[in-house]
Amino acid sequence: MATRKRPTRAGSLVEYKRKRDFSKTREPEGRVSDSAKGTLRFVVQKHAASHLHFDFRLELNGVMKSWAVPKGPSYDPSVRRLAMQVEDHPIEYNTFEGIIPKGEYGGGTVMLWDRGTFGPEAGGGEDAVRAGYDKGDLKITLHGKRLRGSWVLVRIRREAERAQWLLIKHRDRFADPDYDVVAEVTTSVATGRTMEQIASGRSRVWNSNHEETGDPEPRGVRRSPRRKTPTKTTAAKRASAKVAPAKRQSAKRQSAKRPTRKKAAAKRR
Ligand code: MN
Repeated sequence: MATRKRPTRAGSLVEYKRKRDFSKTREPEGRVSDSAKGTLRFVVQKHAASHLHFDFRLELNGVMKSWAVPKGPSYDPSVRRLAMQVEDHPIEYNTFEGIIPKGEYGGGTVMLWDRGTFGPEAGGGEDAVRAGYDKGDLKITLHGKRLRGSWVLVRIRREAERAQWLLIKHRDRFADPDYDVVAEVTTSVATGRTMEQIASGRSRVWNSNHEETGDPEPRGVRRSPRRKTPTKTTAAKRASAKVAPAKRQSAKRQSAKRPTRKKAAAKRR
């Protein structure tokens, strides 16, 4: 198999830039970064656009290789989640949470759902990640808050306009067929906000046509204090603090009832 050319400094982000009007969206314009020195980053953004999906991004070659995963990741090793490759994103995108204006590319709400570092499962640093990516068999270990352990991305269709991959959990101590992570984890890893709270966050609407226009800096979560629910009133804070654990428990109870059906479905496959 031919070795993939390393992208030029602008090369890999041409499609990303072509799709966006940076005078209207506050997504970062970004650039191809220098090669990673040490750890590689990953991020998962929950994106309520025309269709809800999870954007799974892995740092490689100075950009974030990106996949749209309609159903999100699963901790059940018998589940294969379709991951449609999309355009490379700049590394600056990793701090992006907020609203993309309606009518713009990807218009909707973006939540930082998970983030952390990753590496090739068998070691070997970025070269091993590159080799796995080129081969279409990318075995990685994720060190996130919500996603941990060993996972694989397998390319199943290269020819399509969007290469199709499958995202699968490997069997390890983190694998758990009964843990429905996308149903149970519904808040931002960065700000603790729900999708609704992000969508109504006044300071994070990027297309406002007053003082925010022309601000080259994405108003990402980096600038914000890392509080659990920064935009809520005290009463709402207390309410959500009370509701959250109960919700989690009921989700656990529900998912505990489901495996029979799931296992039956797995057998059918
Ligand atoms: Mn997306």
